[in-house]
Amino acid sequence: MYRIIIILILLIIMFYMVRRAFRDWNKSEETSGLLGKDAMIQDPVCKVYITADSAITRKVEDRTYYFCSHECANRFLQNHPS
Ligand SMILES: [Zn+2]
Repeated sequence: MYRIIIILILLIIMFYMVRRAFRDWNKSEETSGLLGKDAMIQDPVCKVYITADSAITRKVEDRTYYFCSHECANRFLQNHPS
């Protein structure tokens, strides 16, 4: 009788651990997908969507902005002098 209870408790603990691991895994998938190579980011100047690896990046006040071209990046920096 004791054995069944112990096995049941172990099963419940394992179930919770697996569920938590699965949730963490899903969360890391989401965050890595956010800035992944194929993630689409909007250019704040011309509103065009670009991928992170083809975008031109500018750091303004510890925030990274993504632009489709140097022209948009320069225009953005003119409007937001740091
Ligand atoms: Zn642009």
